[in-house]
Amino acid sequence: MSTDEPRADSTSDTFSIQELVDASPATISLIDTQQWQVRFQNCSSRAMFGEVVGGQCHEKFVQSAHPCTFCRATEALETGKTTSSEVALPDGRWILIQWAPIRSGQTFLAVESIIDVTESKRREEEARRLKDLFEHQATIDPLTELLNRRGWTELAERVWWRAIQNHEVIEVLLLDIDHFKQVNDRYGHSVGDQVLRHVAGVLRHQTRPGDLLGRWGGEEFILLLHPPVIDVQIIGERIRQAVSHAPISIEGVPSPVDITISIGGTTFDPNANEPGGLDIALIGADRNLYKAKKEGRNRVCI
Ligand code: GH3
Ligand code: MG
Ligand code: MG
Repeated sequence: MSTDEPRADSTSDTFSIQELVDASPATISLIDTQQWQVRFQNCSSRAMFGEVVGGQCHEKFVQSAHPCTFCRATEALETGKTTSSEVALPDGRWILIQWAPIRSGQTFLAVESIIDVTESKRREEEARRLKDLFEHQATIDPLTELLNRRGWTELAERVWWRAIQNHEVIEVLLLDIDHFKQVNDRYGHSVGDQVLRHVAGVLRHQTRPGDLLGRWGGEEFILLLHPPVIDVQIIGERIRQAVSHAPISIEGVPSPVDITISIGGTTFDPNANEPGGLDIALIGADRNLYKAKKEGRNRVCI
């Protein structure tokens, strides 16, 4: 292409195509995909790759003996549409390469333009990181690192719908630390926090990978047994014993502090057409927790 070639005219300005593409900050080249030969480069392309007209693009641009795996130039020629690829460079930068078909006599060539998208890619990654962080903070309890009420409910509802499809029952346990207020009153709030973390750890240790364990609020935890077990009472009993057999040592307190929990559980059939969904199962578990407390604490009531 030379300055004698077609001129792009507007009402008052006249400039050559060469001047126009040279003014672009994008790296523009023209590729003959038959031989992967570079037929034209603009100023930015020369600045980036040197004079490469006549050479093979993959050899000149990325020093490869073979066409690039990310190249979608032929696809642009076949479909008549612009194609693009985002490519990570070894130095950490990201580039966006676009190919558009252009006719030259009887043949079609690919106009290849490259722009540096490192900054927008970085912003995109930062936004994704923040979104993940906010989602994590919205669903995870920071003290115990268990699911919080919202996170637990979201996942439990999914299990609920799957249970309907699979004709399974739903088994929920509510677990409440006994006389926890006394721990706070006797040793202080920060020891109370340590106890909450300790109990959360014991509970986590007692659960299977599919079980949903969460902090329901305060000193109350919730567990959905998934898949369901044959005998909820046995599982509840095992958990109750695990907590009572794991006293916690507190710095400055001479003997380990005994902790017990009360557990209220329920088995609910979501296919029984009772209205109310998951909430009804929770009301049942809560009622049994109240019963366990009333009957003397440190016990399981299903
Ligand atoms: P019960 O056996 O009947 O369950 O008695 P309880 O003392 O465990 O229950 P109560 O509801 O009277 O007291 C719960 C206490 O839990 C009161 C509240 O200050 C404390 N608590 C709630 N959340 C936290 C927390 O995040 N950290 C600490 N340290 N204490 C908490
Ligand atoms: Mg309590
Ligand atoms: Mg409570």
